[in-house]
Amino acid sequence: MIDIAQIYKDAGAYLEGHFLLSSGKHSQYYLQSAKVLENPKTALLLAKELAKMIKESGLQIDTVCSPALGGVLAGYELARALGVRFIFTERVNGEMVLRRGFSVSEGEKVLVCEDIITTGGSALEAAAAIEGQGGTVVAYAALANRGFCKRYGSAKEAAKACKLPENVPFFALADFEFEIYDPHDCPLCREGTEAYKPGSRGN
Ligand code: ZN
Repeated sequence: MIDIAQIYKDAGAYLEGHFLLSSGKHSQYYLQSAKVLENPKTALLLAKELAKMIKESGLQIDTVCSPALGGVLAGYELARALGVRFIFTERVNGEMVLRRGFSVSEGEKVLVCEDIITTGGSALEAAAAIEGQGGTVVAYAALANRGFCKRYGSAKEAAKACKLPENVPFFALADFEFEIYDPHDCPLCREGTEAYKPGSRGN
């Protein structure tokens, strides 16, 4: 098994600071998957490992779909490793939709792939777009799990914050568990620093 935490660290993708996450919560750490995936060899290595896990489960997949932008690189590489087609959803006026001529057919078996799954919110929105066209979401996948959702093969139960359905498998290479804080109860805020969006300061 590959050491995904080490791969993120080596790529400078395991950031330390005071981050404002897309969920509105604060965190001392942030995983910048784009930085890991900037090396196509690493992307291929991770996707192959994830594909192996999915194939070994016996699950049949017709298509991989990722919510843009975050999941696209991981999803594309996973689709390549699985030998299936790849599509993505994107947000239009706040709603996650399939555009660009992408469509799914009735009963098509779709895996929704993210780079990182935190609570699974965006993945679930992508799933709704697929199911709206009659597709069936048969699995979720991510390079890494932030520790809230139950990973396939792991004994650790999902936390309340996890939004993914319990009856659909979720594949990920590793758990990355670190604290996230409510902005009103954040020790980093109490120390007097201000949370910032990852990427807004050149990271
Ligand atoms: Zn804070």
